Amino acid sequence: MALIEAASPHTMNTYGRVPIALSHGQGVYVWDVNGKRYLDALAGIAVNTLGHAHPKLVPALQDQIAKLIHTSNYYHIPLQEQLAAALVELSGLTNAFFCSTGLEANEAALKLARKYGHDKGIERPEIVVYEKAFHGRSIATLSATGNTKVQAGFGPLVEGFVRVPLNDIAALKKATEGNPNVVAVFFETIQGEGGVNPMRAEYLRDVRALCDQKDWLLMIDEVQCGMGRTGKWFAHQWAGIQPDVMPLAKGLGSGVPIGAVVAGPKAAHIFQPGNHGTTFGGNPLSMRAGVETIRIMKEEGLLENAARVGAHLKASLEKALAGVKGFKEIRGQGLMLGIELDRPCGALVGRGAEAGLLFSVTADTVVRLVPALILTQAEADEIVALLVPLIKAFLAE
Ligand SMILES: *Cc1c(COP(=O)(O)O)cnc(C)c1O
Repeated sequence: MALIEAASPHTMNTYGRVPIALSHGQGVYVWDVNGKRYLDALAGIAVNTLGHAHPKLVPALQDQIAKLIHTSNYYHIPLQEQLAAALVELSGLTNAFFCSTGLEANEAALKLARKYGHDKGIERPEIVVYEKAFHGRSIATLSATGNTKVQAGFGPLVEGFVRVPLNDIAALKKATEGNPNVVAVFFETIQGEGGVNPMRAEYLRDVRALCDQKDWLLMIDEVQCGMGRTGKWFAHQWAGIQPDVMPLAKGLGSGVPIGAVVAGPKAAHIFQPGNHGTTFGGNPLSMRAGVETIRIMKEEGLLENAARVGAHLKASLEKALAGVKGFKEIRGQGLMLGIELDRPCGALVGRGAEAGLLFSVTADTVVRLVPALILTQAEADEIVALLVPLIKAFLAE
């Protein structure tokens, strides 16, 4: 191991860290400070879309840093307009707001929904959220999150949420029946932190129809599953629907902090000057990272790659783990996969690092793989070769 456990005496004790320290990367590989190489199947938690040190991204960011990093939203920022136009084209929506993180994008979505209600004369708007959801760790977004561990110790929670189970349209109708205060339905197309739990396409279409019928906003958190990860630009596009509000972050800047809320006609004009803003949001460096990420993804066919290599990875893992006692199932799509075991398996993360493979375990029992979208089939095979023996040995204990 590269570092001893107590190697961070001056940072707050907020993370259970794997005892390694990384020094540099290339493609899907990273090296620690002792020169040991790892295949990075976590990609900064679905952030490093283009892998590390991408030869087209690096010079573009260097060029931008030398021109302008930050100016403030006191002024027009042409790169904001450029990235907004790209996101509008990819999503079919109409306008974007920029911020710096996922929770900030979700916070903006929640404010949009509340103001949508107030503008309609609803004084105490309520938003439908889901069991096992994860939307961030600010007070409002942890209140929307469906995980008592994330909420513990931070009450009182923000009110105005109605919680429902996944993929159950009858439960959604029942939970909102006769409630005139509902203004929006808010979920991840594929829950990430909650254990890689997909919403079914039919359910997505049913919720879209219900939102149209009731005049609610459909708000889809694509912070983790968006930006090409599943093989479409946004995961809800597999169901052929469009949301009214779509928060993005993680993969949008390939590692440069960035968040966005993209909205359609029902929600795009709710905010007026003075309603919302953030100092770092939309700065030229993060906007350039977003513009270049999309350009490079298109040039290199990374949607198609994520779909093809992801399907290969899923099939290979399913084949290798079939019949293994303690293996339950593999969920997810493209390069967002969760391997569910029948027991808590956090211990696998450290063993993976020892074996030269980086990944995470989420929801206690789910091995999560969210590698860079540049992953090749040979690299996917390497993941399988490293991971399967670890899981088999763990389950045999
Ligand atoms: C990571 C994540 C967030 C929070 O993003 P931060 O940048 O950590 O604030 C919100 N929603 C989803 C679906 C996420 O995966």
